[in-house]
Amino acid sequence: MKRLSDIGTIKDILSRHGFIFSKGLGQNFLINPSVCPKMAELSGAKEGVGVIEIGPGIGVLTQELCSLAEKVVAIEIDKRLIPVLSETLNEFDNVKIINDDVMKLDLNKLIKEEFGDMKVVVCANLPYYITSPVIMKLLEDRLSVETITVMVQKEAAQRICAEVGTRDSGAVTVSVNYYSKPEMLFGVSAGSFMPMPKVDSAVIRLNVYKEPLFEPENSKNFFKVVRAAFSQRRKTVLNSISSSLGLEKQTVNKLLSDSGVNPQVRAEKLSMNDFAEISRRISL
Ligand code: SAM
Repeated sequence: MKRLSDIGTIKDILSRHGFIFSKGLGQNFLINPSVCPKMAELSGAKEGVGVIEIGPGIGVLTQELCSLAEKVVAIEIDKRLIPVLSETLNEFDNVKIINDDVMKLDLNKLIKEEFGDMKVVVCANLPYYITSPVIMKLLEDRLSVETITVMVQKEAAQRICAEVGTRDSGAVTVSVNYYSKPEMLFGVSAGSFMPMPKVDSAVIRLNVYKEPLFEPENSKNFFKVVRAAFSQRRKTVLNSISSSLGLEKQTVNKLLSDSGVNPQVRAEKLSMNDFAEISRRISL
């Protein structure tokens, strides 16, 4: 197998295919040889396990996943990379490449068709321009996947993995925690990529709950309240919820008090349970 984390090999492949990086598609390819084996192993890829990869690029992580997993389905939006992947993955017969936009795919259907009863995990070095939308799609689609192991920008990783109710938390922290238990795995320096991005990255793992934390009939309200509460981070939860949802201050004040929440605190102070209590009482 041609080691794709070798910079000379990567340059050779890319120049033979006349490939030019697309900034718009978040194309920063991994060139640090120690990252992919570690990431693939921590994703839970092994015999009997199917893996969905998003954005295989030239296949550096895909090769590691194929060596460990039963089957890998990799979704790549850039059609220029398809012939590259045919070359770099040609020794594996357990991989399928889908040339599509992950945001447009019915992933539940894909899992049923490609993996049947196999246990499935997600593992990806995500394109940074759509990190949160991809993560939220994976969670909101309620896929039957056990874990989602993704590389994201370090700041996004810290935000997602922050404790709910602390200063570092945000709407994405609460939303991700509704569906899963996030875990910081390891940091990856900016120099591990070509071209080199401006910021460092980190690998996180979301351990997906079989059922979300609260009853589904409240979930719409729950996410509306979370988004509203964090819409103006520096304001009190009373002000941000009332202005963002267009509700009378008096009504929101009573709602918060009835939910056991101090209306004068900021959203970052609220627990999962506080958000649940508010969303149970609010009528939107
Ligand atoms: N996995 C490779 C690596 O680690 O070297 C490449 C990672 S690169 C950060 C992100 C990859 O996602 C690129 O190959 C890019 O073309 C692809 N991509 C960007 N947007 C996508 C989308 N909406 N759906 C699927 N793939 C996408």
